Amino acid sequence: MADLKVQLTAPNGKTYTQPTGLFINNEFVASGSGQTITSTDPATEQDIATVHAATAEDVDKAVRAAHAALNDPKWKKLATSDRGVLMYKLAELIESNQELLATIDAWDNGKPYRDALTGDLPEAIGVIRYYAGWCDKIYGQTIPLPNKLAYTLRQPIGVVGQIIPWNYPLSMASWKLGPALACGNTIVIKAAEQTPLSILVLADLIKQAGFPPGVVNVINGLGKEAGAALVQHPLVDKVAFTGSTATATQVMKMASATLKNITLETGGKSPLVVFEDADLEEAVKWSHMGIMSNQGQICTATSRILVQKGIYDKFVARFIEEVKTTSKVGHQWDTETYQGPQVTKQQYDRVLSYIESGRQSGATVATGGQALTEIGGGKGYFIAPTVFTHVKQDMPIWREEIFGPVVVISEFGEEDNAVRIANDTTYGLGAAVFTTDLERAHRVASEIQAGMVWINSSQDCDPRVPFGGVKQSGIGRELGEAGLEAYSQIKAIHINLGNRLS
Ligand code: ADP
Repeated sequence: MADLKVQLTAPNGKTYTQPTGLFINNEFVASGSGQTITSTDPATEQDIATVHAATAEDVDKAVRAAHAALNDPKWKKLATSDRGVLMYKLAELIESNQELLATIDAWDNGKPYRDALTGDLPEAIGVIRYYAGWCDKIYGQTIPLPNKLAYTLRQPIGVVGQIIPWNYPLSMASWKLGPALACGNTIVIKAAEQTPLSILVLADLIKQAGFPPGVVNVINGLGKEAGAALVQHPLVDKVAFTGSTATATQVMKMASATLKNITLETGGKSPLVVFEDADLEEAVKWSHMGIMSNQGQICTATSRILVQKGIYDKFVARFIEEVKTTSKVGHQWDTETYQGPQVTKQQYDRVLSYIESGRQSGATVATGGQALTEIGGGKGYFIAPTVFTHVKQDMPIWREEIFGPVVVISEFGEEDNAVRIANDTTYGLGAAVFTTDLERAHRVASEIQAGMVWINSSQDCDPRVPFGGVKQSGIGRELGEAGLEAYSQIKAIHINLGNRLS
């Protein structure tokens, strides 16, 4: 800890230097109070590394560094195309370190290494590259008026405080950093306390890419302490948060004191509707992936499946078969593993308590329904992928976000009914519709209350396409051109071209 880095060897044999400090002004520094967080491997419950955790005082230092960097000519006056060059360089550095970064996220988070390497990393690289291309294409408009020239500038918002979750540590960081940097902001980003490691290696790459000191500051810390201090800091102009709806309401409340601009991406209970005319085989495969991948720890997980009456029994039977043949639960490093451990004991307990609640309320456990303690010899947070049928719409397992490998499957009769049930939720993040009827596909997509609707797929997001929620699933959009709106503000300039008052 003293020299703010440790040498680690991951279970897959990868040896590397793990920074452990807070990254402020392009340097790793110790927390003023010496407060720390210890990260553990959720498969073995063994400690991996201890890193510095920011207190409110440390957050203040990071925010002041970001605030000073806003006026540093090396950033403020940097040609926008050169800003893009820095971002391309960062993407390249992430790419050349992708095996290391995937190793750290697999170890720290519990996700299968193969998924981190082929899913999370390409996404993080792709998002940074996508926004690198935007840097010199962000500008205002001219507005034709008589005797006047009016035009707009699109300027950075200023210091951005970003708070990210643990389910996709690096890709969530890239979603936040990409558009904020493209628009010329400066940043303090706080990782989730459950996954504090990969972002510190990323911080090192940010420095190597050549970003001036203070442009990106990376802190670890507890949500209630460091997160809350960041949200409330008077020099933070904007807060971007991804996490639970419950925490988002706190964030929104705190940010309101200084009327900060906010973007929130929160929870969901996303419906997936399968009509009788759907390609059943494809519907089963996509819907399985839509809830069971990433250990079910996906904000857009299509966790409520609605199947039309005529194919309900067939669908359920095929879905269970798919779970049994595909969802192999195991350690992160086993190439056969589809599902690793849940991220923490707390999440593991929470998912198991939902499974118990489902049982208690009378739903049928069609498969799974228990912890898999034999995998790690009594260690590790492994849970059997679980399918509930005979679920009523007032049951907590139908209404609440479980954030684990647990799905509820129910049936419906007519299209109208499917839409009504799909929309009967406080959430509105994702939704999926399976049908081969073109008209129905568009009609239902338009009627479902959600920020994103997939037709005949699930979860296949893309950096070029906006992402976000309606209702209690969020405010604002990330990704795509829409993601730039969250990080830029419009200034109007009026130039008098001959309007005389005398
Ligand atoms: P989860 O319940 O899935 O862990 P949270 O919403 O609690 O999700 O956490 C998401 C992120 O929000 C994490 O980085 C966490 O540290 C942070 N966080 C948690 N509580 C607060 C808070 N009161 N203020 C600001 N950030 C917080």
